[in-house]
Amino acid sequence: MAALKFLALAVQVRILISQQNAIMKRTTLLLLAVAALFCVSCNNRPKYSEELQQTAPALCKGAEKKLVCMDLDATLTQHKTPLSDSARQALDKLGERYALLMVGGGGAERIHKQMLDYPIDVLGNYGMEEARVVDGEWKIVRKEVCPVDTASVLAKCQALREKYGYTEYYGKSVEIHASGMLTFGLLGTEAPKEEKLAFDPDKAKRRAMYKEVCEDFSDYSVFIGGSTSFDMTPKQYNKYDAIMRFAEENGYTRDEIIFIGDDLDDGGNDSHVRLGGMDYIRVYDYRDFPKLVEPLLQ
Ligand SMILES: [Mg+2]
Repeated sequence: MAALKFLALAVQVRILISQQNAIMKRTTLLLLAVAALFCVSCNNRPKYSEELQQTAPALCKGAEKKLVCMDLDATLTQHKTPLSDSARQALDKLGERYALLMVGGGGAERIHKQMLDYPIDVLGNYGMEEARVVDGEWKIVRKEVCPVDTASVLAKCQALREKYGYTEYYGKSVEIHASGMLTFGLLGTEAPKEEKLAFDPDKAKRRAMYKEVCEDFSDYSVFIGGSTSFDMTPKQYNKYDAIMRFAEENGYTRDEIIFIGDDLDDGGNDSHVRLGGMDYIRVYDYRDFPKLVEPLLQ
């Protein structure tokens, strides 16, 4: 349909071009090229109707939904940017009907700040941290840390570097966080930003070694994170297990939960939700969030 419209537009523009001077012709051709690029990008994106057809059965399946869990970056907001008014309004509407839970890979404080203090329960660091709204006040109620076998972690990272050719790096080979989480950046902890951004934009380099990293770090949940890294959390901390723990503690069954996220493919930081069999809505563009959740409000 879009192709037919574009063809009709092209014919009209051709007629216009034949009636114009040279400068106008160039301008018109430039506009036509921009329109063509727009058409192509639109066609490559899943359409809402298709997406909702895919997700509608999940939304209707099983028990009535009571708890809506969400990722933040690229789901509700642009990466590490504040909550927009439209996203806030969508959350307000959802909150009238459901219990809401933000489930992030980052720390609970960072999530709360990015959401401009929006009053919502938060599981941070893949469930290592929990924050609740109690009597209108947002506070962290649980913060867990895990010990790390540093020598073993360094040896495994070095072996992977040697096997895949990443023996040269900036700073440290792996960042070991106080929580026990690990960030194994293939370019190291001090790599220049431009170099990091250009390193693996389609994640192909990290996908090629993902399976082996998972095998080597079998006591961790492994995610392809950031621009150059594998993020690792002690095995029991991932979004699926974090949500299920919250559900058990607060009286929800899995069928009563729906998750909304963007990074559900293998290696993605929402992937455990899909693999665990929880119902979910996939977000391709965070600006679509208010529209994507409309079926939940009908
Ligand atoms: Mg995300």
